[in-house]
Amino acid sequence: MSRPRAVLFDCDGVLADSEMVVNRLVAEQLTALGWPMSAAESRETFLGLALPDMVPRIEARVGPLPPGWAEELSALIAQEMTLHTPPVEGAVEAVRAIAAGGLAVAVASNSARAELAAKMRALGLAHVFAGRVFSFEDVERPKPWPDIYLAAAAACDAAPQDCVVVEDSVPGVRAGRAAGSRVLGYARETPAGVLAAHGAEPFGAMAELPGLLGL
Ligand SMILES: [Mg+2]
Repeated sequence: MSRPRAVLFDCDGVLADSEMVVNRLVAEQLTALGWPMSAAESRETFLGLALPDMVPRIEARVGPLPPGWAEELSALIAQEMTLHTPPVEGAVEAVRAIAAGGLAVAVASNSARAELAAKMRALGLAHVFAGRVFSFEDVERPKPWPDIYLAAAAACDAAPQDCVVVEDSVPGVRAGRAAGSRVLGYARETPAGVLAAHGAEPFGAMAELPGLLGL
């Protein structure tokens, strides 16, 4: 496989092992609103969705949310992430190896901007991705639309067809494929077969990533 020009990373579940922290917070909030939910159920219900796309689903179940609810939840997540963002095993090392190999790297996430910046700092990757960190707040439409990946590719001065996207959720794989990129699917939160059905090439460990990119 020839080397791509740039590698565009999803954040949650790919770089930051944050899904359970986020899902625990979401589950607590929804339970308090009258939709009893565990962290695992939150993950199943909302995996890969940006907060604005979660809101109508939540309101369909519990009625109109208090004003500022989504913003408060986002701030709470950012605060928690500043204190504690566990890395996905081998992810930080893989990113550093890929950048050292001369490939451009960017982050494209359905997280809010402040929350995403907090995760990058906590992972020690803020400098590696400097200026190439994209939140749903930076574009018109969140994943599964391709906008975030198109913006990330442009920031790397690369055509999307010359980029590889690294994803772990179905909305993220769909976004990467819609952008026109090759997508590698980290099969942990979502089974390999499901990722493959949406056009990703599944893989099982971050240590495999440099090899899959031709490094
Ligand atoms: Mg993800």
